[in-house]
Amino acid sequence: MTTTLTPCPLYINGEWLTPKIATTPVYNPSTGDVIAECPVGGAAEVEAAVAAAHAAFPAWRDTPAVERARVFFRFRQLVERDFDKLCRVVSREHGKTHAEARGSVFRGLENIEYACGIPTLLFGDTLENLARGVDCETILQPLGVCVGITPFNFPVMVPLWMFPLAIATGNTFVLKPSEKVPLSAVLLGELLAEAGLPQGVFNIVHGGRESVDALLTHPRVRAISFVGSSPIAKYIYETGTRNGKRVQANGGAKNYIVIMPDADIGKTVEALSAAAFGCAGERCMAGSTAITVGAAAESLLPPLIDAARAIKVGPTDRAAQPDMGPVITAQHRDRVSSLIASGEKDGARVVCDGRGVKVADAPRGFYVGATIVDNVQADMTLAREEVFGPVLNVMRMDDLDRAIELANRSAFGNGAAIFTRSGGAAREFKHRVKAGMVGINVGVPATMAMFPFTGWDDSFYGDLHIQGREAVQFYTQQKVVTTRWFGGDVGDVWKK
Ligand code: NAD
Repeated sequence: MTTTLTPCPLYINGEWLTPKIATTPVYNPSTGDVIAECPVGGAAEVEAAVAAAHAAFPAWRDTPAVERARVFFRFRQLVERDFDKLCRVVSREHGKTHAEARGSVFRGLENIEYACGIPTLLFGDTLENLARGVDCETILQPLGVCVGITPFNFPVMVPLWMFPLAIATGNTFVLKPSEKVPLSAVLLGELLAEAGLPQGVFNIVHGGRESVDALLTHPRVRAISFVGSSPIAKYIYETGTRNGKRVQANGGAKNYIVIMPDADIGKTVEALSAAAFGCAGERCMAGSTAITVGAAAESLLPPLIDAARAIKVGPTDRAAQPDMGPVITAQHRDRVSSLIASGEKDGARVVCDGRGVKVADAPRGFYVGATIVDNVQADMTLAREEVFGPVLNVMRMDDLDRAIELANRSAFGNGAAIFTRSGGAAREFKHRVKAGMVGINVGVPATMAMFPFTGWDDSFYGDLHIQGREAVQFYTQQKVVTTRWFGGDVGDVWKK
């Protein structure tokens, strides 16, 4: 049976375009079917999109912030109206379960809501009488053309981390979604147009490295927001800044969850299993390593293994939902399996094995079942590399000190969490752990729209993070205006 391909147009200057250029297949990872062909744009498409964004900038910049906000109030209503449709597209092209898709689209919606507050977010500071008769104020102004380059794992949420705030602050935007999941971005573009955003303010180009390179070097692009793997994040940061652009580039991760012997085991198993296996482990905030302290391993592992074995894997594109969906591609499934095998070869013990899992009603889908690997050692490839699949490493340590030291040896610094009943242990962990987002009895401490998404080290390249006030700063430049008026006798008012 052949699947009808879903159109995947570019969006430039308010028009949906399907140029005759090379394409790359988009899969439904649940079934292995090709569901669309994503055009692989390059310099010509980028040129057209940036030109449209540049031309739209002067009028959009001068549109009052309250009017810009109104577009996002309407956009918010439309995303809510089409919530189920968006979630279905996310499930189909990415493989998230409906519940996971709903959670992720909801997180994105909160970013639109945050952007609706733009009139107050853009308030500046004023100091009257900085010197005698002299006043001083700061104003925040947009930059111009901003770019978003996004990963496959959150097809709606990550673009929504970027463009609502970038556009609400008065910039125009070019989005380059992941070529593996371009269809959600197309839906978002349709909703923005319906919300009344003027043409050229938001544009979509597709493709991979060629489009990205054209964006990174384009003289009219002022700022780049990137989310993806660390090597590419570093490349984007270095190339973008070398070309004079502001860059915020979120990278990959390896997040540690410390389990103290006094932790509430039932609640910890629940949280850990959700952190490790939720979204099939394809989250930059996935809890990919459990560090058990002292006797914690003995009480934690049996119920954790039971919980992992109970996770039903299956297709997410139909009414009956599994607990966990597929990973994104066949190649990625094979990479995850080979990383598990490397751990085994290096001496770790696979205590729950998801390799080769069979899904009878979707035999060509890209599945890996929940996997737990015990006795992982710090120098193993499995310990160091981001697996980005449903694989939980277990590392055993004697005390909290050593657990923190181990976590701090990671090249990444996205998230870290501790499960304990001890305020002292939690306080020590919070203070010393080298990660930008910390959870205390919270397995996935991913920040919400009003807080910055604060990765450290190889998990982030740049200065100002995505989301929250830092993102408002990222998308604006400050102007400080110092004012003095001469003449007149206004001062006499006070003498009367
Ligand atoms: P990726 O780095 O392969 O791709 C990200 C984007 O970069 C895509 O749009 C892709 O087309 C583009 N790209 C890929 N190769 C490129 C190249 N050589 N030159 C220029 N551009 C290129 O990432 P992915 O596989 O789509 O996403 C998974 C990764 O994203 C994981 O490492 C995950 O941890 C990370 N991630 C990080 C965060 C965060 O906030 N830190 C959030 C989500 C995902």
